[in-house]
Amino acid sequence: MTYVAADGRYERIPYRRCGRSGLRLPAISLGLWHNFGDDRPLDVQRAILRRAFDLGVTHFDLANNYGPPYGSAEINFGRVLREDLAPYRDEMIISTKAGYDMWPGPYGEWGSRKYLLASLDQSLRRMGVEYVDVFYSHRFDPETPLEETMGALDHAVRSGKALYAGVSSYSPERTAEAAAILREMGTPLLIHQPSYSMLNRWIEGGLLDTLEAEGAGCIAFSPLAQGMLTGKYLDGVPAGSRASKGTSFSADLLTEENLRHVRTLNEIAAARGQSLAQMALAWSLRDGRVTSALIGASSVAQLEENLAALNRLDFTADELAAIDRDAVE
Ligand code: NDP
Repeated sequence: MTYVAADGRYERIPYRRCGRSGLRLPAISLGLWHNFGDDRPLDVQRAILRRAFDLGVTHFDLANNYGPPYGSAEINFGRVLREDLAPYRDEMIISTKAGYDMWPGPYGEWGSRKYLLASLDQSLRRMGVEYVDVFYSHRFDPETPLEETMGALDHAVRSGKALYAGVSSYSPERTAEAAAILREMGTPLLIHQPSYSMLNRWIEGGLLDTLEAEGAGCIAFSPLAQGMLTGKYLDGVPAGSRASKGTSFSADLLTEENLRHVRTLNEIAAARGQSLAQMALAWSLRDGRVTSALIGASSVAQLEENLAALNRLDFTADELAAIDRDAVE
């Protein structure tokens, strides 16, 4: 059936300004790293994407190698875009990245101009779009001059194939250098995409200050620690869960100590009237410098539960202190 987006979708969730740019992002964005490869039925993917858009999620995050196999998440997303969401392209923020291994040989990964620009062209073809909204350097390349990597992002923007430039997982120092190079080229750094969750707080040690100083936004990936910060692993590893597959998140991480943390956090969440996933997301957004929490979801039910986190974003000082006591590693 022809998809028609829900009325009232922009009254449902907050949008936050991305640094000092003109762009606002939904407080929760949807990533397609897992759950959108050829290992998942297209109908489920379509249902998640439609529901997300109906609930006000305007931002969809991809990368060249999301799948499996590599490239398939962009192909599948492109298909749903073409069949369902194409009339809404101007209401959507689509991002992609290049940096990790994508094709064989010396030009298929890292940060050369050769790789980044070829990869962007491939991503546009796979998704069937003329441009992406954000193009990221997926990781810092210690062997390529930063001027070359940033020059490729600047070129992507000037050629109209991307509207904005971003970096992912760069250290605070490299981020400041990247932002300075981009600024000089006339293409400001829009956004940084780091990992961040109650179990992984590295960005509090300088990166957020750097981004604030540079006027760049922050979109936090894996805010649920790939599912560990939900109730799902408290009684073992459910069949079909990400940990049961052991690809990017191994059940070995579910140590007794980690699970003890998670149980205590689960109790704090329950006392707030939230699920653990909801509290974890609200927590990741408590600092206004975090523009958006970038989640994954393998079902519509997970997506809905997670978006409902936005109904309660405030924390008492006691709650924050209790989380700090238990969550800091
Ligand atoms: P999350 O931490 O949100 O983990 C998502 C997974 O947790 C889901 O796929 C699902 O796994 C489980 N889950 C989610 N909600 C619930 C719920 N309510 N109840 C129970 N289980 C739940 O994020 P991801 O690790 O998926 O990363 C999100 C996005 O961030 C990626 O898609 C990608 O866009 C980006 N990213 C970027 C990286 C980078 O280097 N820049 C690296 C990693 C991610 P299950 O299959 O078990 O149901």
